Amino acid sequence: MLATNLKKTGSYRLEQTGTYHVRKVGNRRLKKPTGPITLEPTNLNELRRIVEPDARTPLPIRPQGAGTASTDCNTSDTGTTLKTTGLDRIINVDTYNHTVTAEAGVRLENLVRELAEHGLELVGGYDLQGRTVGGAISAPCFGPCIGSDGGYFSSHVVAMKFIRPDGQLLRIVPEQKNLLGAFRTSFGMLGVLYEATMRVRPIRTFTASHRRVSIDKFSSAVDALANGDVGFKFYLMPYRDRVYLDLRRYDTDPGNAYKAAWKIKDWGESTVLPHIFKSLNRVVPIQSVRYKLIDSISEATQGLVNSRLVNTGTNAASQPNHHKYAGARGCFYSTWCFPAANFSMIVKAYRDFCESTYATSQYRCDMPAVGFRLCRDTSSLLSPSFDDSMIAITTASTQPAGWDDFVIDLAEFAEKWGGTPVISQSRALRADHVIQTYSKRLDFFRRMRRQLDPENRLLSPYLAQFCQ
Ligand SMILES: Cc1cc2nc3c(=O)[nH]c(=O)nc-3n(C[C@H](O)[C@H](O)[C@H](O)COP(=O)(O)OP(=O)(O)OC[C@H]3O[C@@H](n4cnc5c(N)ncnc54)[C@H](O)[C@@H]3O)c2cc1C
Repeated sequence: MLATNLKKTGSYRLEQTGTYHVRKVGNRRLKKPTGPITLEPTNLNELRRIVEPDARTPLPIRPQGAGTASTDCNTSDTGTTLKTTGLDRIINVDTYNHTVTAEAGVRLENLVRELAEHGLELVGGYDLQGRTVGGAISAPCFGPCIGSDGGYFSSHVVAMKFIRPDGQLLRIVPEQKNLLGAFRTSFGMLGVLYEATMRVRPIRTFTASHRRVSIDKFSSAVDALANGDVGFKFYLMPYRDRVYLDLRRYDTDPGNAYKAAWKIKDWGESTVLPHIFKSLNRVVPIQSVRYKLIDSISEATQGLVNSRLVNTGTNAASQPNHHKYAGARGCFYSTWCFPAANFSMIVKAYRDFCESTYATSQYRCDMPAVGFRLCRDTSSLLSPSFDDSMIAITTASTQPAGWDDFVIDLAEFAEKWGGTPVISQSRALRADHVIQTYSKRLDFFRRMRRQLDPENRLLSPYLAQFCQ
C-alpha cells in the first residue's frame, strides 16, 4: 500500500488510498493534518501527490533546495517544508547544443562534475556548490562572473518544468521569454520547479590575479573594475582597512588550471577559518587580543592561499564544494546589493559603519565580508540588478551573541546607501523597503502570483509581507 519513500517528521506519512491523502499514522479516520512537517519526494509522481489540493498537505507548502538561504523563504513553520534534494537526476547533457537538463534537487557540485566529464562547464562561476539547481534558479545565485558571462545562474536557464500550486504541470519553453522571466527568481511562489534546462559551454580557462590594497585605494579603483571586462570577488576586512582582490580574466594563453589548489583554498576559507575563529571565541576571552589574532589569521590565509596558490582556473575547477549550509556550521550571513556606480563611497561608509557599531555595541563580525560584482541582468522580473550593475556584499560571522541586533543596524545602513534587499539573503529587511525597491516589477509579480495561487497554498507569512 505504501507506494512512496517520503521522509517524515512528526507523525505523518503520505499514503496511497485510491486517491492520495496525507493520513495520520495509527488513526483510522482521515483527518486534516497539521504542520509543521518536512517531506522529501524522490520522483515527480511523489512530488505531484504532495502538491495537489486533494492530498491535503499542511499549508503553506514551501519548496526547499539545500536550505542555504539566510531568511525564512525556504521553510514553513506551520505547514510543509518540501525538500527537493531527492530529485537528483541529471537527465541529459547535450554536447552538440551545449545544454544540460537536470532535476531541481541536483547539487551544483554534481552538475559541475558531470559537465566536466564532457569537457563542458557552467557559464559563470558560482560559489557554494552545495546549493541545488532549483534553489539557484529560484533565488538570485551569483559569483565572480567575468564580463561576458552574464549575471545570475538563472539567466542561463532556457526551459523549465513546474508543478503549479493547483497541482497541474507547467512546461515553459525557450520561446516563452516573459514566462521564463517571471518564473526565474520566483522564490517558489509560482510553483515547484522539478526540471530545468541550462545553457553550458566548453571549459574555458581564466587567469586569477590577487592584490592587497587599503580600502581607500580599492575605493579609487572600483569604478574602473566595475565597468571593465574583469570578473572580481573581494574579501573586505574593515577593521584592518584591507581589501583582498581576486581578479579574473580570460587570457589567450592562461596555462593549466589546477583543481587541487582551488580545493585547498576552499577548505581554508570555508572550513578551517570558521572552526579556528569559533575556537578562539571560546578560549580567548579578551576581545582586543582575540580579534587581533583572528584578523591576522584571516590576512595570512588570504596572502598564502589566494595569492600564492591559485593563479589560473576554470568554472569547473574553481567552485567551492562544501554543501553544509552556514547555519549548521555556526556561521551567519546577510547579503545586500549596492549600486556599483556609488560603491567607491559606500565601501568607505561600510568601514566607518563597522567601526562605529563595534565601538557602541561591542559586536563585530569575525569573518571577512565577501563581495562580487553583479552585472546588470534583466532576465528575471525580480532580479536585484535589473536596472544597474551592483556590488553585493555578504557580511558573515561565527558570533551568535549580538548578530541579530547587528543585522538590524546593517539593514538600516544598507537602506540609507540605496541597498537592494535580496529576499532570500538579506537579514532584517523591511517589507516596505522591498516593495519600494522592486516597485512595478513586484506589482506585476504579485498579480501573477495571485492568479496562479489564489488560495496562497505556497505563500508563507514571511513572503506574504511583500508578495500577497
Ligand atoms: C556560506 C554561504 C555562502 C553563500 N554565498 C553565496 C554566494 O556567494 N552567492 C550567492 O548567490 N549566494 C550565496 N549564498 C546564498 C545561497 O546559497 C543561494 O541563495 C542559493 O541559490 C540557494 O540555493 P539552495 O539550494 O540552498 O536553495 P534554498 O535556500 O533551499 O531556497 C532558496 C529559495 O528558492 C526556493 N526554491 C528552492 N528550490 C525550489 C524548487 N525546486 N522550486 C521552487 N522554488 C524553490 C525556496 O523556496 C527559496 O525561496 C550563500 C549561502 C551560504 C550559506
